[in-house]
Amino acid sequence: MILEIKDLSVGFHTYRGDINAVRGVSLNVDEGEIVGIVGESGCGKSVTAHAVMGLLPQENSFIKDGSIKLLNQDITNLSDKEMTNYRGTSMAMIFQDPMTSLNPVLTIGQQMTEGIIKAQGISQKEAYDTAVALLKRVGIPKVEERMKAYPHEFSGGMRQRVMIAMALICKPKLLFADEPTTALDVTIQAQILALLDELRREMNMSIVLVSHDLGVIARICDRVNVMYAGRIVESGPVGEIFHNPQHPYTRGLLNSLPRVDKVDDTELPVIEGNPPDLLYDIKGCSFALRCGDAMKICAACRPDYENMGKEHFVECWLPSRDREEGHDE
Ligand code: SF4
Repeated sequence: MILEIKDLSVGFHTYRGDINAVRGVSLNVDEGEIVGIVGESGCGKSVTAHAVMGLLPQENSFIKDGSIKLLNQDITNLSDKEMTNYRGTSMAMIFQDPMTSLNPVLTIGQQMTEGIIKAQGISQKEAYDTAVALLKRVGIPKVEERMKAYPHEFSGGMRQRVMIAMALICKPKLLFADEPTTALDVTIQAQILALLDELRREMNMSIVLVSHDLGVIARICDRVNVMYAGRIVESGPVGEIFHNPQHPYTRGLLNSLPRVDKVDDTELPVIEGNPPDLLYDIKGCSFALRCGDAMKICAACRPDYENMGKEHFVECWLPSRDREEGHDE
């Protein structure tokens, strides 16, 4: 097991009080696997990723409960200094906007070689050659020329390729990709996803892909976790979740995706309403106020995870209601 998160709860101190951004999340990532985390803005998917990377803002965040194990080592409460032993070596991260991670006043070559020397303690010449090889591997054309260019001289897609090359410097076992294609147009998006998929096979690297877009998740993930209001409400193999979604929120997300086989001009359905305010404890199902299938019990008690078979789990009362009413097919 590369990553094991158990009952993780993360909070933020705010002027309004403590926000419970992640509320009891458990998920595993195996070697060479791509695991997706999907959900709308504010559902806690990036906070979960940042908690594992040790990148939560120190001034106002706190891990309330739970544990994070990376390569069987408990890294839940390590200091920032201790976490630097893992970041960039065992795990790395790429973000939505590579421009914010690259230094605008240094050339790509300077940034790459500096990172390589720091990480591997090799000579300038060796670091230069390694940088060239990495940039070539991620598909940067005319690499020697591009080494002398500044980040603003690269397109968005090329900048993301540079970030991927930087993340690969120490051959991490686990790569977090936080909305890596959100700022890119669809053709470049497909190229970057294909590159990530190639790299995981080549390096037997595990990837956690964080996205609000189920279409992106469907392209390369093996398993997916659907998050809502700080909890995983449904999880399972991608094919199973897409073809047999059980949670009304997952169904809503899937119904709101444009489809090439639908040619009528009717508007796409939306999930009405807003997620709950995570400042307050939620007693029952967090989706109850927006759910068209809500029952009395939903607002009063949180459902347990129901095992649907085929490693498919859903946090919803509907399967047990159907069982009681004899609706099982
Ligand atoms: Fe809807 Fe109830 Fe299921 Fe929540 S538990 S998603 S409110 S049916």
